[in-house]
Amino acid sequence: MGESATLVERLERGPVLCAEGYLFELERRGYLQAGAYVPEVVLEHPERVAELHREFVHAGSDVVEAFTYYAHREKLRLIGLEHLLEPLNRTALEIAGSVARDTGTLFAGDICNTNLYLEGDRASKGLVRAMFEEQVAWAADAGVDFVVGETFQFAGEALLATQVIREAGLEAVVTLAIHRDPLTREGWTPEEACRRLADAGAAVVGLNCIRGPKTMLPLLRAIRAAVDVPVAALPVPYRTHEVEPTFQSLGGGGAFPVALDPHTCTRYDVADFAREALGIGVAYLGLCCGAAPHHVRAMAEAIGRRPPASRYSPDLSKHAYLGTDPSLRKENLTFAGRL
Ligand SMILES: [Zn+2]
Repeated sequence: MGESATLVERLERGPVLCAEGYLFELERRGYLQAGAYVPEVVLEHPERVAELHREFVHAGSDVVEAFTYYAHREKLRLIGLEHLLEPLNRTALEIAGSVARDTGTLFAGDICNTNLYLEGDRASKGLVRAMFEEQVAWAADAGVDFVVGETFQFAGEALLATQVIREAGLEAVVTLAIHRDPLTREGWTPEEACRRLADAGAAVVGLNCIRGPKTMLPLLRAIRAAVDVPVAALPVPYRTHEVEPTFQSLGGGGAFPVALDPHTCTRYDVADFAREALGIGVAYLGLCCGAAPHHVRAMAEAIGRRPPASRYSPDLSKHAYLGTDPSLRKENLTFAGRL
C-alpha cells in the first residue's frame, strides 16, 4: 500500500481486498434508517462515514468505496430529498477520496441497483441509464480510480452500468446479486451474465451481497471457469445454507434485515471463505452488508496480509482463564472448564 498503482496493476500483483457494507454498519451504529436505506449520513454526519472508511482501511481494505450506494435519484425521491442528490453524491466522493489519498488506497465510485429496471421495458432502461450517467459523471469529476457497479439482480441493468462507466473512460468492477433461484432475474446463469459483462468491458466481474460464503462459493467456481478477467466475490457475512441460500431467506425469512445477528459469520467463517475463494482463483475479495472491521481483518490475514489492525489480533495466551502465561493464577486456569 501507499504506492499509486491502478486497480488492474494491483490485481496483477495479487488479490485486492474491498470492504463494503457501509449501509448495514452505519444502521447498526444509529446513523442510518433501515427500510428506505438512504445514506443521508453522508450529509448529516460526514465524520462517521470518514471514520468507517478509515476503520475498514485499518482492517485491511485496499479500496475506499464512496458511500453512494442507494444515493441515487429514485431513493432520494422516495424520501422526498431529490434536491440533495448532487450534494450527497459529491460529498460522499469527497470524503472517500480524501481517506483514499491519506491512506494510499484505491478510490472507487459506486453505482447500484436502481429498483426501476424492467426487462424488456425501453422507458425504464432510459431512466436507469440517465441515473447511472449522472452518478458516474460526479465520480469521474471526483477523480475516482474506478467505479463499482453492484448488487444487480438483472444482468441487463449490470450491462447498462458497465456501458455507462466505460463510456466515461473508467474501469468497472461489476457484481451481480443472485437470489434463491441461482439465476439473474431475466434467467441467465451467473457465469453467462459475467461473461457478457466482461465482453462489455468490465475489468472485474463477479458477485456481491445477498448470499453468504457457503452459498456463493459454488456459483463462483462456475464464473471463474467462464471468464478471463479477474473475478470478484463479496458475500454477506451471514451463515446462509442450502435451504436458505440468501440472507433474506434466513430464519424462515424473518431475520432480514434487522434481526440477522444470530446468523452472523464468525471471523473464522470469513477467513475460511477467503482461503477457499482465493483457492478457486477469485482475485477481488471483500464483504458486503453485515461486514464489520473484524471480518475484514480476518479476511486480510487469511490472504497473507498484516494490516495495521493486526496489531490487536487475538492472543489468548494472557487470558486470565484460558491463557498459558506462566504468571497466570492456577486457581483461575483450573476454573476454565466451569466458566
Ligand atoms: Zn450488501
